[in-house]
Amino acid sequence: MLIQLTYASRCAHALGPADVKDILAASQRNNARLGVTGALCLNHGIFLQQLEGDRMVVNALYHQILRDPRHRDTVILDLSEITHRQFTGWSMGLLPSLDTNRQLFLKYSVGSEFDPYSMSTVSLRSFFSEVLQNVRWLE
Ligand code: FAD
Repeated sequence: MLIQLTYASRCAHALGPADVKDILAASQRNNARLGVTGALCLNHGIFLQQLEGDRMVVNALYHQILRDPRHRDTVILDLSEITHRQFTGWSMGLLPSLDTNRQLFLKYSVGSEFDPYSMSTVSLRSFFSEVLQNVRWLE
């Protein structure tokens, strides 16, 4: 059964481009093998990730990600059964905090900063739908 899991976390310490590249490389390598797709956003030290795939596989992967010392304060924001994937083309795409993406982050911000912890599930789903359509990705 396909599920979609969305969580947020905070960087445990300041991460440089090399750290982010490492995370993305491991994600793409492992997720392709596991049949997991999704997107990872990083904005002002907060990660927001959506994982899609088989229920057991996504659960196991989430527990692995949870143990990663590079982030903390991990909270599941949304977990649902899905009939189909959104991110068919991505084992894991990274949406960085670029100027070109700022408007999208701001559109879904309650305050002046993008804060996924305060977003409703409806907003989160709508955010990820838009992510697919009009953002600049880092590969
Ligand atoms: P390797 O990448 O070879 O790493 C071996 C071990 O070293 C792992 O335990 C790893 O956690 C640890 N490690 C590696 N680099 C560092 C470092 N710089 N600091 C501290 N510990 C380190 N992995 C996925 O497979 N799919 C995902 O979608 C995914 N999303 C992630 C999202 C976030 C926000 C973060 C922080 C990590 C994510 N990861 C993801 C990475 C995941 O937590 C594991 O690091 C990775 O799955 C382990 O891959 P590997 O077995 O190939 O080991």
